[in-house]
Amino acid sequence: MKNVVIVGGNAGGGLVASRLERLLKEEDVNITVLDKNGTVDFMPSYTYLALGARTKDQVSKDFSKIASKKIKPIKAEVTDVNAAERKVKTNIGEFNYDILVLSPGAAINEAATPGMNNVEHFWTLDRAMRMKQNLGKLKKGKIVISTASMIYRCPPAPWEMSMLLHEYFLNKGLRNDIEITVAHPVGKPFEMFGPSISDPLTQWLNEMNINYQPKFTVAKVDPDKKEIVSTNNETLKYDMAIVTPVHEPPEFVKKNDDLKSKVGWGSSRLRDFKNEKYDDIYAIGDLIEPTLGLGMAGVFAHFQADTAASFIVDDITGSNLPLPYNSVAICAMEGGSYGWFAYCDFKDKLKNPTIPFPDCTLTGRGRIYKLMHAVYERYYFATIFRGRI
Ligand SMILES: Cc1cc2nc3c(=O)[nH]c(=O)nc-3n(C[C@H](O)[C@H](O)[C@H](O)COP(=O)(O)OP(=O)(O)OC[C@H]3O[C@@H](n4cnc5c(N)ncnc54)[C@H](O)[C@@H]3O)c2cc1C
Repeated sequence: MKNVVIVGGNAGGGLVASRLERLLKEEDVNITVLDKNGTVDFMPSYTYLALGARTKDQVSKDFSKIASKKIKPIKAEVTDVNAAERKVKTNIGEFNYDILVLSPGAAINEAATPGMNNVEHFWTLDRAMRMKQNLGKLKKGKIVISTASMIYRCPPAPWEMSMLLHEYFLNKGLRNDIEITVAHPVGKPFEMFGPSISDPLTQWLNEMNINYQPKFTVAKVDPDKKEIVSTNNETLKYDMAIVTPVHEPPEFVKKNDDLKSKVGWGSSRLRDFKNEKYDDIYAIGDLIEPTLGLGMAGVFAHFQADTAASFIVDDITGSNLPLPYNSVAICAMEGGSYGWFAYCDFKDKLKNPTIPFPDCTLTGRGRIYKLMHAVYERYYFATIFRGRI
């Protein structure tokens, strides 16, 4: 009987738990999931929450109510890992493991940006709900969407939000009174995905009358002047600013040399997602994307969970059937009343980081693609933690 302890019970950790539940016999494994919030959250719907199109209960569920009985969900915050002794320290006590899986995502550091409390964002549940309140009060003026961090969950999210806001104010009959600008560190909208994505999306943003300010990273917010100030000392006036907060590795990783890579994020090998030093520690998801050179996206966490789970099954059963990592991003996004569907293959870029962007194809734009978000949301809550995936 092996003790598998999973830290983080959301997209990556929840899926590993589900896979192990399905693939291993009950007498072979104890699956414990430690999560500081004790919830499963569908973060792609935080955009909807901020726009009033979802309630908190629709996007966040108590994981102890969802989990299959073969999985033990425990609400606990991990504060340290002793890799040599195979122990995880938490605020409610210590847990021993034979195999540890780390999927705690990224930590949000609002305090790193002076004035952050005066602007909105939708990168956490609480802030998405606050944004909804303040957005409802805005009848005219300038909305500026920007970022204080180049590394953040869901790289396309600022542009997606700009297009959702276009639709939001159009439906309220206020679009002519609201100016929308995205100010971002990259030279062109969606530049990091290459011209096959960037060119058509830039055109759609233009059609929606959404402005773009390149090479802009927020250094601070000046609430008295109602300005966001960039690292180059440029300023943008706002009536409402939406600023992506600084994303960092979680504290227990930051302080632990055994758990972090050269870039300070999670240590993980691309082939099997094992720690560089310890074969009994796996790390996946947002925690490791900056180490690998990938963006933070649930779709990466999903395929990494598949591969890591297959190696864990091999560790436990002695089989030798690992699942190679599928480094693709399949993305259904929304813009205005339409959605679109993008497929990006990162295989070559991972082998050679000097390749500027992944191999992407935009397969369409239409109302049907808007539905895919809602369908995936249902699928997520119907499968994760339940051993059905
Ligand atoms: C607004 C928004 C829109 C998005 N849209 C998309 C999209 O369209 N497509 C897409 O692919 N991705 C999208 N993402 C990104 C996606 O949600 C993340 O990449 C994905 O959730 C990462 O999974 P993870 O398991 O690595 O981390 P997370 O999902 O962040 O889960 C980490 C879990 O670990 C727990 N945890 C953290 N620290 C500790 C600790 N010390 N002790 C115990 N537990 C801890 C947390 O409570 C959390 O439950 C979006 C994200 C946001 C915010």
